[in-house]
Amino acid sequence: MDQLTLYNRILELSPPWHATSVDLKDDESEVVVTVAFDQTQGVACPVCGNQCTLYDQRSRRWRHLDTCQYKTIVEASVPRVNCPEHGVLTVQVPWADGSSHHSIKFENEVLKWAQEVSILAITRRFKTSWSVVDRIIQKAIKRGLSRRWEVDCTHLSVDETCIGKGRDFITILSNRNGQVIAISDGRSGSSLLNCLSTIPIQCLQKTRTISMDMSSAHIEATKRFFGNKANKMISIDHFHVSKVLTTAVSSTRLSELKEQPSLDKLHSHKTRYLWLRNRHNLKVQQSNELNLQQTSMVKTAYVWMLKEKARDIWTGIEPANRRSWAQWLYLAQNSGIKALELAAETIRAHLKGILTAMKHQSSNARAEAVNKNVKNLARLAHGFRNRDRYKSLIMFRYGQLDMSMTH
Ligand SMILES: [Zn+2]
Repeated sequence: MDQLTLYNRILELSPPWHATSVDLKDDESEVVVTVAFDQTQGVACPVCGNQCTLYDQRSRRWRHLDTCQYKTIVEASVPRVNCPEHGVLTVQVPWADGSSHHSIKFENEVLKWAQEVSILAITRRFKTSWSVVDRIIQKAIKRGLSRRWEVDCTHLSVDETCIGKGRDFITILSNRNGQVIAISDGRSGSSLLNCLSTIPIQCLQKTRTISMDMSSAHIEATKRFFGNKANKMISIDHFHVSKVLTTAVSSTRLSELKEQPSLDKLHSHKTRYLWLRNRHNLKVQQSNELNLQQTSMVKTAYVWMLKEKARDIWTGIEPANRRSWAQWLYLAQNSGIKALELAAETIRAHLKGILTAMKHQSSNARAEAVNKNVKNLARLAHGFRNRDRYKSLIMFRYGQLDMSMTH
């Protein structure tokens, strides 16, 4: 096989395009492949396909995937046609897209790598600049979003995540499949509204639940956006209920600890995490230890018992209904333990959302997984120039978009 045939194959060229020369520039470690357009068959308008007169030709260069260790450049004089109907237009080359300076194969390879490694690693691997990689990624996201007609919004989760240092937040809206649907700055009600406003309306008409924490901002924003439907949609995740109760256990334990002799204090301190664990996951020795503690930490034991009872209601060990919660609330609100009474008040105020979450088995677990991925992404974030780039990389990695390049 001669080298022209080889490059016709590599670049997948077919008439009227064909390789005319291959030059090896050893000093620059570069292979330059010249491709020509055979005009004897005429030139067609890229819009209507009618045969037109040749207007002129423009010389262009594209970076292609390397040939072994050689950087490979494709050069061609690209014809422009003069269509009576559409004016002067450039003929589309088959190996690259629009005005890109890179071949489709090159861009697709960069996109494949960008799913796995940092942008910095890609710039080294492809011996290219940060801005080139960034441009390829931004174009891919735009392409993916423009193809996203239908996105599953049946069960949504809204979650906030802290980025960078300090108190800089972004709000992420995802669905039950762990697909990131929208991202916006901040963690206020308007952040959620901004997320919702980017989703096609026909998808949001199918929404049945939105899982969230107990922040009033997100609840109010959901009511504003969905109107009366919102009351049935707002769904308070188990994770957040559990967090409220765990906090109540910890603060009760701390206040009870103050009344204990020093030696017991030390011992209690060492075993403090046992109170926060799921009792079904405790080893026999840990279980015995907790039983022993319960005799001296009566209030903590009571809050802990109700925390576990709440878990049982949630997981269906106790009847998963409003009545179980009513009994639970009665016990908590009349316990005489301040931290527990406060927690009970929070839970009572959000009971409808808690019941909705239980009914639809909706949970932020997927969103929490997304959140973890987003945090891991931050570690790869050498070279993020600003938060918009960070947000777009989240969408790129976890948006499940169809970003492939084809003609
Ligand atoms: Zn035309």
